[in-house]
Amino acid sequence: MTAHDVDVVVIGAGFAGLVAARELGRGGLDVVVIEARDRLGGRTWTDHRLGHDLEFGGTWVHWVQPHTWAELTRYGLGIERTPPAEEASWLGEDGVRRHGTVDEFMTLIEGGQQRIVDDVRTAIPRGVAPTVGAIERLDALSIQDRFDQLGLTGEERLANEAVWVGHVNAPLDRVGLSSALRWVAATGGHWQLMHEASSTYRVVGGMRGFVGAIAADVTGEIRLSTAVTAVEPGDGVVAVGCADGTVVRARRVVCTLPVNAVGSIAWGAELPAAWRRAGKERVASQGLKIWIEVRGRVPRFVGYTSQQHPVSVLKSELVGDDSSVLVGFGPDHAALAADDLAQVQAAVDAFRDDLEVVDATAHDWMADPYAATTWMTHRPGQLTRDLVELQEPWGQVHFATSDNASLWGGFIDGAIESGLREARRILAGTTGTGSR
Ligand SMILES: Cc1cc2nc3c(=O)[nH]c(=O)nc-3n(C[C@H](O)[C@H](O)[C@H](O)COP(=O)(O)OP(=O)(O)OC[C@H]3O[C@@H](n4cnc5c(N)ncnc54)[C@H](O)[C@@H]3O)c2cc1C
Repeated sequence: MTAHDVDVVVIGAGFAGLVAARELGRGGLDVVVIEARDRLGGRTWTDHRLGHDLEFGGTWVHWVQPHTWAELTRYGLGIERTPPAEEASWLGEDGVRRHGTVDEFMTLIEGGQQRIVDDVRTAIPRGVAPTVGAIERLDALSIQDRFDQLGLTGEERLANEAVWVGHVNAPLDRVGLSSALRWVAATGGHWQLMHEASSTYRVVGGMRGFVGAIAADVTGEIRLSTAVTAVEPGDGVVAVGCADGTVVRARRVVCTLPVNAVGSIAWGAELPAAWRRAGKERVASQGLKIWIEVRGRVPRFVGYTSQQHPVSVLKSELVGDDSSVLVGFGPDHAALAADDLAQVQAAVDAFRDDLEVVDATAHDWMADPYAATTWMTHRPGQLTRDLVELQEPWGQVHFATSDNASLWGGFIDGAIESGLREARRILAGTTGTGSR
């Protein structure tokens, strides 16, 4: 057997990688984390722009997300509520805006939101086992298929669809119904709770603080600005080659790359079929999250247009006297350029006519080679066909990513779940050698 430098190389310093590294270190193994970017956090990223610390990736957390909640408790981190909206707007089928209270909007969508997940208890009886149940037969359907079956019309259809674009970050004919069912299953079948869990409470101190707390507990080295380019499984040792020419030899590797990015590494042998398939097809999410500064103090509002609009959901997040900052979500990252303020103004005008755009900013996760996706949602069929296989180790290589989590796949909670899962597996089969 070739000599190894460390027990485990963890590729990627997002939530999955940092949690895996922490656990492996606590278990007595020698670990190096290799991260391509010059920062921690992966698909979470707190950056100071438009005069505020803004979250460009994952933001909202909830106590129904057990892995996330355990970490927040562990580090004594609190949550704060995004102040509730006082006004809502949506579109009529005639293209004319409607304005009302949030309660009126919730009444409008109630029937559609309930009906698309009506069979959740038979589809996925246990949220922790999302491939078990009637989901196998339903998994061929997209969310759009299900909405079309319901026969909703007019503003009820537009509003219900726009709400789900906000959840799945893609056109609804691209996303499996399974994404709706599995997240609602994770909240015990209650769609209102799923909505709250995914868009209401943020971590005090932001994701930068949350990620930093976990990273401070990692005992091994975290090597930033070092992209892994090749992974060569060998005789008891895996060689991890980096863009700077260095090679680290380890007994195990934990790869935390998103499904859409795994193909960016040259694997020394053919990856398992599910990884090849999923990498080729790619997962469904492909949308936009944009921060928009507007002049003056604006009312606390939430607005919905339709899935055909570049921004389908818009909310006031930070309200100030001189300017306010809105957050928007749309189905296609390529449909709106944040630096084209005329285009952004037109997108905002679809919601209200009292907003003057001053500036806007976004991170294009789809164009970012280290993500190539936003928050993971499956295409029809992918969940039941591939998830179980994607969770399996491939010899000495383990895969931990929110994209292959069981409970809150696509969320921060799923990333933590997957990091814990693979660390546990490695610790169950390996003892440390103190090799360095
Ligand atoms: C816009 C947006 C909004 C979101 N909103 C929410 C939300 O409100 N709540 C929620 O819970 N979740 C949300 N999510 C999802 C959540 O952020 C992710 O599911 C989670 O952060 C993924 O963690 P991960 O560790 O699995 O993957 P990642 O965070 O993607 O980590 C993978 C790491 O691997 C690194 N890497 C990639 N390639 C290489 C390479 N070749 N060599 C070395 N390193 C490499 C990457 O740089 C990255 O740091 C959102 C995501 C996005 C993009």
